[in-house]
Amino acid sequence: MRRVLPFVCPPSYPFWRQWVAALQEAMPDEHVVVFHELDARDLASCDVAVVANPSIEDLRALPNLKWVHSVWAGVERLVADLGDLDLKIVRLVDPVMAETMSEAVLAWTLYLHRDMPRYAKQQASREWLEHEYVGAGDKTVSLLGLGALGTASAVKLRGAGFQVCGWSRTRKSISGVQCYAGEEELLQMLGRTDILVCLLPLTSKTEGILSAEVLGALPQGASIINFARGPVVDEHALRRALDESKLSHAVLDVFNREPLPVNAWQWAHPRVTVLPHISGPTNRRTASALAAANILNYRTTGVLPISVDRKTGY
Ligand code: NAP
Repeated sequence: MRRVLPFVCPPSYPFWRQWVAALQEAMPDEHVVVFHELDARDLASCDVAVVANPSIEDLRALPNLKWVHSVWAGVERLVADLGDLDLKIVRLVDPVMAETMSEAVLAWTLYLHRDMPRYAKQQASREWLEHEYVGAGDKTVSLLGLGALGTASAVKLRGAGFQVCGWSRTRKSISGVQCYAGEEELLQMLGRTDILVCLLPLTSKTEGILSAEVLGALPQGASIINFARGPVVDEHALRRALDESKLSHAVLDVFNREPLPVNAWQWAHPRVTVLPHISGPTNRRTASALAAANILNYRTTGVLPISVDRKTGY
């Protein structure tokens, strides 16, 4: 008998049909049904669901639910909304996403490294002016977060010839990468950083971590890339650091409010590049295959995949 596997997303989510089709193809033994088409019997019977920004009310309507598999890597909203709901959250850890994200990290690091924002401004004012070239080997790119995405990015940056540093909560060891750990070592790393790339999860500890003090610890003229979540950065401190030329440029893919409101200051700031949350998209096919493998393993062994630690929030 095929079991019903709900796909839980907001009713307005435009890609639910594509997700149901991709998940169904990856899981022929399950009957994948979008949440709003479940009947009362289905609601009562499900013990696992695949989710994309689900509402907690929808999850509460599934009384036997034990765990959910998110199709996103960042699950901070779900973790924050859970409250007293006793539910395990499995987030997406996909090597294909890590590859895509590390490609974006390299692309936008090269954009900053080769002074593209500066030369674009010069072209706009028909100014012919060359600036001294400093090679990749003389530039340090530092990663905040050395998890699935940060580690892949560190390796890619190292391959491109940069000096690479990385910071995490617990100490890591990555060949060719200078690894720092814990709050006490953060400022140490920042002091030698030319380009700072943020790939931290949003948690109670990382919210606002890129504060005035932390940005102030970067050398004059450093740049930042935020591919994590908007609230990790103190926006006021960032704006001040850019206005005062402490930072030469910020590439921002994530914001406190998304889509970024049309009147937001970032759109027109001469030292900001705005991206519409595109640095590490989920690949529907590989994400569905990973969810399928995890769910099949659970069906056959009863073992859940590694889930988010509710205490640390990631
Ligand atoms: P992950 O595997 O959980 O890695 C998180 C890393 O951050 C780990 O190295 C962890 O340290 C470190 N960390 C967490 N809290 C810390 C703290 N308080 N101090 C120092 N280090 C801390 O996560 P991931 O898969 O790499 O994803 C990272 C984030 O990227 C996601 O949470 C999501 O928000 C964002 N993301 C953005 C996009 C996009 O398109 N813009 C796409 C996908 C994901 P330990 O290793 O010691 O645990």
